[in-house]
Amino acid sequence: MTRYSAFAIAREAFRDHLGWRRAWASPEPRAAYDVVVIGAGGHGLATAYYLARNHGITDVAVLEKGWLGGGNTGRNTTIIRSNYLQDPSAAIYEKARSLYETLSQELNYNIMFSPRGVMMLAQTEHEVRGYRRTAAANALQGVETEWIGPERVKALCPIINIHGPRYPVLGALWQPRGGTARHDAVAWGYARACSRMGIHIIQNCAVTAIRSRDGVVTGVETTRGAIACRKLAIVVAGHSGVLAGMAGFRLPIESTALQALVSEPVKPCMDVVVMANTVHGYMSQSDKGEMVIGGGADGRNDYSQRGSFHHVEETVRALIETFPILSRLKMLRWWGGIVDMTGDRSPILSKTPLGNCFVNCGWGTGGFKAIPGSGWAMAELVARGEPGPLAAPFSMTRFREGRFIDESVAAGVAH
Ligand SMILES: Cc1cc2nc3c(=O)[nH]c(=O)nc-3n(C[C@H](O)[C@H](O)[C@H](O)COP(=O)(O)OP(=O)(O)OC[C@H]3O[C@@H](n4cnc5c(N)ncnc54)[C@H](O)[C@@H]3O)c2cc1C
Repeated sequence: MTRYSAFAIAREAFRDHLGWRRAWASPEPRAAYDVVVIGAGGHGLATAYYLARNHGITDVAVLEKGWLGGGNTGRNTTIIRSNYLQDPSAAIYEKARSLYETLSQELNYNIMFSPRGVMMLAQTEHEVRGYRRTAAANALQGVETEWIGPERVKALCPIINIHGPRYPVLGALWQPRGGTARHDAVAWGYARACSRMGIHIIQNCAVTAIRSRDGVVTGVETTRGAIACRKLAIVVAGHSGVLAGMAGFRLPIESTALQALVSEPVKPCMDVVVMANTVHGYMSQSDKGEMVIGGGADGRNDYSQRGSFHHVEETVRALIETFPILSRLKMLRWWGGIVDMTGDRSPILSKTPLGNCFVNCGWGTGGFKAIPGSGWAMAELVARGEPGPLAAPFSMTRFREGRFIDESVAAGVAH
């Protein structure tokens, strides 16, 4: 596989760019693999990548019913941060954020990580208390965040109206090394690196049944035939409940559509990410100039990956209070993705009642930021059959045992 470099670009410039090879191979599925990963979103591909990189397991297939990165990974608003309250969350999200810092070099693929800083606005006294507490918790966890006052908010993001009509800005939780990355590139970068290490990525291959013998997984049925495996990782976000049903167990997960929209491109006007959870909206500016705006989750369970007018209206109306400058901006398009929500708004990385079958889900509205850390922890779980320190707190048994990792404030509404 061609290594991407300044030299390669210069060489291709002299031969009309005809020398580039496909970024990843599309092999026919084999009859059996050591490990099958279901779902070629960011989390599934990262799991496969770290299985090979960290554990030397390359006899792996990643099965995808559509095209890789076509699920939530390619539909999200790309916010990366690790300012969570609880220690297990801070550990896995900070691991992910720190891996993001050098992921472009590691994968030899520009994922456009932009640590431009993320601020979560406090617009009620309740939020002020909550974010001050999170800043204190983050200091103990070694996560670099800071409580900042309204003047600093205005200095960092001049287009904010800090004297909003209903909710003036009282301060913010600021994470200077949070930011964004290009979502497709994260999936493509991992896919290319997986392919380079001999992992099979098989698109247009939906898993339709899971086979087992004596309580241990033996393989899957797919739209491209049966595939045997020794170990199975289910990493399908909003479809986790469906796959768990095939494996014979239930997950404490609800699936619902979450929406986002982008405006027409405008000149650079905002170089930080802003989340305004009280009015409910979050926004950043893409490199193309579009304002990328996150909306709400539908109030019902659903598998349709669509947006709806009332959410667009609600989100934009709310944001205009904080960013009056947006009021004349035209919106270009909006969409939805199916997110997988747990009761405590924390993920599940876990063994399951079916032997050698593991599940990674429940990232809900905020799993893009977690992709590298989640893949790292999931690969360890699959390779060893037991969770390492990052995954251990996120077992699915925590719901039965009452060991919730409550992140409803940090993760329930926004990202
Ligand atoms: C609108 C929106 C905005 C968001 N914004 C942010 C944000 O700003 N920051 C953040 O951190 N997170 C955000 N998220 C959440 C984030 O996108 C997800 O948590 C994350 O992408 C989940 O990745 P994944 O790899 O688990 O899932 P996905 O990318 O959804 O991948 C799962 C894959 O499994 C495949 N699959 C399903 N069933 C089968 C089957 N039977 N056989 C084979 N394949 C199957 C699907 O086709 C899909 O490609 C947002 C989500 C949405 C929808």
